[in-house]
Amino acid sequence: MEWNEKGQLAEMLEEFKGRQKCTTCGDTGYTLCSSCRGGKKSPKTFHNTNLRCAFCDENGIVPCKMCLC
Ligand SMILES: [Zn+2]
Ligand SMILES: [Zn+2]
Repeated sequence: MEWNEKGQLAEMLEEFKGRQKCTTCGDTGYTLCSSCRGGKKSPKTFHNTNLRCAFCDENGIVPCKMCLC
C-alpha cells in the first residue's frame, strides 16, 4: 500500500508540472514590479528627487518573466 501511495503522489506531481500553471503570477501574465513593488518610485534618487521606476508601466506591473521564457 505504501508503494502505491508514493506512486500516486509522483503521478500527481507530474500532472501538476504538466499543466505548467505559473506560480509567480498565478497565470495572469503580469506581476507586481520587483524594483518598486508597484509604488512607481525608483529606489535610486536623483538630486533628492525620487525617480519614477523605469521597469514597469504606470500601474506598477510588469509582464511575468516566468511566463515569457
Ligand atoms: Zn516599477
Ligand atoms: Zn507567470
